[in-house]
Amino acid sequence: MPQIPNLIHLAIPGFMLLLLLEAVLDAVMRRELYRIKDTMASLAMGTGNVIIGLGVKAIIFGVFTAVHKFAIFKIGYQWWAWIVLFVADDFTYYWFHRTSHQCRLFWASHVIHHSSQRYNLGTALRQTWTGTMMTWIFWLWLPLIGFPPIMVMTMQAVSLIYQFWIHTELVRTMGPLEAVLNTPSHHRVHHATNARYLDRNHAGSLIIWDKMFGTFVPEDRSDKPIYGLTKNINSYNPLRIAFHEWIDIWHDVRHAQGWRLKMRYLLGRPGWKYENRVPSVMEAGQS
Ligand SMILES: [Zn+2]
Ligand SMILES: [Zn+2]
Repeated sequence: MPQIPNLIHLAIPGFMLLLLLEAVLDAVMRRELYRIKDTMASLAMGTGNVIIGLGVKAIIFGVFTAVHKFAIFKIGYQWWAWIVLFVADDFTYYWFHRTSHQCRLFWASHVIHHSSQRYNLGTALRQTWTGTMMTWIFWLWLPLIGFPPIMVMTMQAVSLIYQFWIHTELVRTMGPLEAVLNTPSHHRVHHATNARYLDRNHAGSLIIWDKMFGTFVPEDRSDKPIYGLTKNINSYNPLRIAFHEWIDIWHDVRHAQGWRLKMRYLLGRPGWKYENRVPSVMEAGQS
């Protein structure tokens, strides 16, 4: 495997420095944005993600390389290819992220990132342990079109690094940049459980996708975001944070009657329950 410049590893000291700076500012301003137990749990999740990534990313690189052999176009490392890839990667990220909120199979991995009831730079590092193994499927079309695997994986890292700094309450607005970029304000909405904010603003770097596909909601200063999950897990145990939704899926699928119902628990919307369903007209007629 050729040496991929691991940008995320290089960025870790910067992440830690900014996190420390925000924590100090928080203490000075008495905003109570941080709780030590919560931050330690987030750091444990981030560390686990990086360790698991070491092995999994090598496998993903192998898959991308295999697919790239059948590439439709021959795309090199020209400057314009990086710009096209930036847009294509960000578009892919939007759909991966939106699916992660709508399909329980992917939500089981993504829920980790939303499990903190705080919103700070520590929350940015609260990353999945299982998602890396599945989410590459969304990016498979990029090496197939012709982007070299190293280029695709580098762009994924750039996107992840960009998304670090937006996990803060200390930046209120970015002015005119709010129109195009994903910003702290837009991403606060994404992490909020308030009804008007739920499942909105799935953007990575550019907010344009949410505006284009109808999932954009601006932050309303009179409706302060309430962070976390609609049903919080109230645990700082990294194992519980990493696997709680997988365990719940297992229980639901095991107890569900019939394959259709089992598949619905696995692939349906997160939070869907047979008991709470709204019966269709036909179903109501049959009962
Ligand atoms: Zn999300
Ligand atoms: Zn986030």
